[in-house]
Amino acid sequence: MNKKHLLISAIVLLPFCLISDWLIEHHFIFKKEYWGLYDNWVHGMIAVLIALPLFQKFEIKSLIIVFLIASLLDLDHFVVNFSFSLTKAISLPIRPITHSLLFATLMSVAFFVITKNKKWTWLIFVAIASHVVRDAYGGLTPIFYPLPISKIPYWSYLMCECLMIILSFNISKNKKNPFKNVLSF
Ligand SMILES: [Zn+2]
Repeated sequence: MNKKHLLISAIVLLPFCLISDWLIEHHFIFKKEYWGLYDNWVHGMIAVLIALPLFQKFEIKSLIIVFLIASLLDLDHFVVNFSFSLTKAISLPIRPITHSLLFATLMSVAFFVITKNKKWTWLIFVAIASHVVRDAYGGLTPIFYPLPISKIPYWSYLMCECLMIILSFNISKNKKNPFKNVLSF
């Protein structure tokens, strides 16, 4: 466990989300496409902040992998469109089903079955789920696929991201039972 990392994540995450989301929503000066790229970077950084308390040391390589998983999820937009056009990618009527908690769960379970690595199973889930939850506050995201729910309230997205930070810390603290005392933290 690493209390310093937990503190950094806990202090940075909420202001980072609030400021970034506000900037993206208002997309000043730059075109919508450029804010789309920034949005993708924010997804990666949020996943890194959530993963941080899980690491004893600042493991840059592992954090880069977490960042990439969270960012590269948006490649599904290009796959669905059969096009590399950024304009088309950010104009989908609804995001692909890879933007769902079911996909996050399936990917992490598949990874666990193959590798039995609990830490990375959690990190893969966090990377995908933190992205999906954030997209879902803006709507057009099949977050609870196959249920027809495509939008969640803004506060619930922020709450989910914060909860995942606490879980990351708890997983490193209580390796055998990561969900122990999570609500009384
Ligand atoms: Zn996305």
